[in-house]
Amino acid sequence: MHEVPYDDRDGVIWFNGKFVPWRDAKLHVLNHALHYASAVFEGMRAYNGEIFKLTEHNQRLHNSAKILGFEVPYSVTELDAVSREALEQSGLQNAYIRPIAWRGPEQMGVSAQKCEINVAIAVWEWPSYFTPEARMKGIKLAWAPWRRPDPACAPVQAKAAGLYMICTLSKHHAEASGCSDALMLDWRGQLAETTGANMFLVKDGVIHTPTPDCFLNGITRRSVIDLARKNGYEVVERAIMPNELGDFSEMFVTGTAAEVTPISDINDGEYSFEVGEVTRALMTQYDDLVNGRARAAAAE
Ligand code: PMP
Repeated sequence: MHEVPYDDRDGVIWFNGKFVPWRDAKLHVLNHALHYASAVFEGMRAYNGEIFKLTEHNQRLHNSAKILGFEVPYSVTELDAVSREALEQSGLQNAYIRPIAWRGPEQMGVSAQKCEINVAIAVWEWPSYFTPEARMKGIKLAWAPWRRPDPACAPVQAKAAGLYMICTLSKHHAEASGCSDALMLDWRGQLAETTGANMFLVKDGVIHTPTPDCFLNGITRRSVIDLARKNGYEVVERAIMPNELGDFSEMFVTGTAAEVTPISDINDGEYSFEVGEVTRALMTQYDDLVNGRARAAAAE
């Protein structure tokens, strides 16, 4: 099945301060970001017309830009307003929202001091990162051939385009062996994350998750930790080594796109997990939270 290419769709994209027809949101080939990965972006989801954790995402866009040495020329408040407007213009209630900020064409070379900063926000339909059937059964992971870098080697806390180079390579490697995603270790050999989501493991009802000291501390990750603790689960953040994987009964990953997705298998049977009670409870609770149902229940 071929998707409609992303540059050939109906609608509008917010592009440097105004809405332009979708197909006109174009760039010249000599943009700094294209050659040197000087771009930061966000991915957020709207549920029933409300963007979940909108301000946190736009704040992270600002922080990511700061880490890459530039300022987003619109405030978080402005980005929040425009994100809502872009969602409204899309006519969608449930959607994926992609803000991106990048260095433009004013300079070509490693230095980018004179480059202007461009910003765009696009909205599209993105129902489920993994197919619903695959999700409920749990998805299969392969070992990634690449590791998350040492914070001394890359700006690991930024959601920056360049950091996804090893993610695409790892995801392709996983897909080539019939898996949905790749499990990445970090530079020390500790468990880190998948190519676009954070990971959790369950043992005897206790939830364990790697300390996010060299990869994104995801907004979903933090929401799920909060939810778990509020629901009486113990959550332990620590360094977890791959040889511990056999001790855990459940595994799941979290991310804006992935939401809460169970893992059934790593490396074709090397490790297997059930879609157990803790994973199922957190899938439901996360679904309630993003759809505003938990807030309604709490207010009763
Ligand atoms: N790690 C990576 C590499 C990601 O791309 C994402 C998705 N942004 C995450 C973790 C999860 O982050 P969040 O929950 O904020 O979407």
